[in-house]
Amino acid sequence: MKKILIFLLIIILASLGIGCSNQAEYSKYRTDFFDTFDTIVTVMAYTKTEAEFKELSDLVYNNFTQMNSLFDIYNDYEGVNNIKTINDNAGISPVKVDGKIIDLLITAKDWYKKTGGVVNVALGPVLNIWHDYRQEGLAAPDQAVLPPMLELLEANEYTDIDKVVIDAENSTVYIEQGMRLDVGAIAKGYATQVTADLLTEKGYDSVLISAGGNVKAIGSPKDGVRSLWGVGLKDPESPLELSVSESNILDAAYVSDMSVVSSGSYERFYVVDGQEYHHIIDPETLMPAEYYSAVTVMTQDSAAADILSTAIFILPPKKSMELVESLDGVEALWVMHDGEIIATEGMKQSLRDLGGASNE
Ligand code: AMP
Ligand code: MG
Repeated sequence: MKKILIFLLIIILASLGIGCSNQAEYSKYRTDFFDTFDTIVTVMAYTKTEAEFKELSDLVYNNFTQMNSLFDIYNDYEGVNNIKTINDNAGISPVKVDGKIIDLLITAKDWYKKTGGVVNVALGPVLNIWHDYRQEGLAAPDQAVLPPMLELLEANEYTDIDKVVIDAENSTVYIEQGMRLDVGAIAKGYATQVTADLLTEKGYDSVLISAGGNVKAIGSPKDGVRSLWGVGLKDPESPLELSVSESNILDAAYVSDMSVVSSGSYERFYVVDGQEYHHIIDPETLMPAEYYSAVTVMTQDSAAADILSTAIFILPPKKSMELVESLDGVEALWVMHDGEIIATEGMKQSLRDLGGASNE
């Protein structure tokens, strides 16, 4: 439970709007679930009845559960070929998978090029070594050690994304022996976007989904007061607390029909000789990326926002900012290690503290 809450990067600000005028018929409901993507998923929505909210939140839950099983790299699910099945069959045979896996991997390959190769879903062999050393280090902090560079370099020989063979027509994926996929940088955002699209299709137009740092706002809050949702950006410097509140947010972004996704060094890490080593790995150095304590990306598509948040966290400042500027409809902020916040103009306009934005 504590682990899950530590992972919670973005929180939803308590909404204090009181129903009035023509929107009095809508009430705010909220539910949380903890059993997908190793994180907490919060669904908040304005609906006319509780039954309607139940339908909506069941839809979110069922979708997240399905996609969690598809994108899992650690667990098997009866009757499901997932990313783990692809990894287990490396060098053996192509694996027939759900169209969502094909789509996710095509999206990942596409963004690999656009981000200059910093987010690589084929980095699995390297990420897996870090994962194992981190788990061992967390279990026995006195004996925590870094992975030997030689081991990382050897693993890095098997991370060529061009060798991920996607046969969209037959819906199969094949990787060579020694390769391993890790979709951790993109799966939550992808799942959030697919789910949001489904909700929109069904006519829901006042929903906020937060999946461990991936927030998607659909429409506006129907409280008769506000036109924008408030999304709290967690302060990377604030102590890790079980409860998140106004006191440990960095700023608030006011948005509608928008994704707000953060990546931070404080999400997952372990300590070796007094120093923290986190989970986002720079493919150039094979070590944790070192330029920022957190970044946030704001753009409509949640999958893009998720990939980009990991990408701009890894890239050095100049390249990171150039990448954001080169993309239409993408805004971002970077939290430097000394606490300085750098944000694009468009991002500032949505920020309560840095840009004086309001939610009405
Ligand atoms: P996020 O929290 O979205 O920034 O994603 C972090 C997760 O992405 C990690 O837990 C790893 O599973 C994975 N990851 C870390 N570094 C990379 C990388 N350079 N390329 C692709 N995936 C990565
Ligand atoms: Mg990401």
